Amino acid sequence: MITVHAYAASEAGAALKEFTYELGPLGSQEVDIKVHYCGICHSDLSMLNNDWGMTQYPFVPGHEVVGEVVAAGGEVETVKVGDLVGLGWNSASCMHCHQCMQGDHHLCETVEGTIVGRHGGIADLVRAHWSWTIPLPKGTDLKKAGPLFCGGITVFNPIILAGVQPTDRVGVIGIGGLGHMALKFLNKWGCEVIASSSSKDKESQILEMGATRVVNSKDPKALESIKGQLAFILNTTNVTLDWDAFLSTLAPKGRFHNVGAVLEPMAIPAFSLIMGEKSVAGSPLGSPALTATMLDFCVRHDIYPIVEEFPLKEVNQAMAHLEKGKARYRIVLKMP
Ligand code: NAP
Ligand code: ZN
Ligand code: ZN
Repeated sequence: MITVHAYAASEAGAALKEFTYELGPLGSQEVDIKVHYCGICHSDLSMLNNDWGMTQYPFVPGHEVVGEVVAAGGEVETVKVGDLVGLGWNSASCMHCHQCMQGDHHLCETVEGTIVGRHGGIADLVRAHWSWTIPLPKGTDLKKAGPLFCGGITVFNPIILAGVQPTDRVGVIGIGGLGHMALKFLNKWGCEVIASSSSKDKESQILEMGATRVVNSKDPKALESIKGQLAFILNTTNVTLDWDAFLSTLAPKGRFHNVGAVLEPMAIPAFSLIMGEKSVAGSPLGSPALTATMLDFCVRHDIYPIVEEFPLKEVNQAMAHLEKGKARYRIVLKMP
């Protein structure tokens, strides 16, 4: 038995407190990771508050982990003790269904979420299947790499899915944890990127991240200035905005891609899609192989999130900082 030292909430919205739990023997395909850093994603907050009605308490958040392999089961071939690795939203998948067999492990019907029905990475140790334990390429900046494993891959995958071209003019809505990484990726992809933000004070930093323009995401009139221009829009907000006004900013054949966990049904008028052959799509995370590809791209182009580091013992202050919309742009906890 291994005792894991974590932080957990006992009920929806409760403060995180020190919490220990036991892990049984390591499975032959499992890996134990000593956590060095763990990012805090808005999904941690939504799970903490049970916004999605699926949280089990005591709840240990944390699914943007980087750390070191401290134990690997006998059948694990991809990593060994001492390797530096990352772990994101998913921790295991069946490895034999159609989706797993074609490399779409993140679409596996029984994919296991790191913080869904099990304890996450705001802890000294976290356990996962080898397939989701992704080796860090040489030269990866450990302090900043954690958020790439959820926020990063979530915004990188849609660029591939939509076949975004370097010649495209594209948009990103919501420049928070996910959105600011999307700006950086799309800028290095070669695109002209127009950011939609509700925060005036972020504007100069958004331009530094690679956007050519910032428009107010809450002002449909401001959106008129980019009417019919965008080949691709990525929404990372979880609030209801004027979706029809955003659809009007798409060029013919353009794609509106949603990754934000918008709680209310999204109002999408049929004719806004029909005229102009536009489409609306969504996606969760990305596959382990694409995550590895993204990491190579990040190291090659020096793409990392802008992080605010908090010590583990200030986890509740960190959560409150995110909830107030003050994070610039991703919070990372440093483990002692
Ligand atoms: P975040 O850091 O809190 O950023 C969200 C951004 O949305 C904010 O920074 C803000 O950007 C904008 N926003 C927030 N409230 C708003 C409001 N009332 N009006 C207009 N804009 C508002 O969150 P995150 O960690 O990036 O996560 C974003 C969403 O993605 C969450 O719903 C999360 O659960 C979800 N998510 C989905 C997946 C997936 O697999 N699909 C993976 C990870 C996360 P501005 O200040 O620029 O307006
Ligand atoms: Zn996440
Ligand atoms: Zn499967």
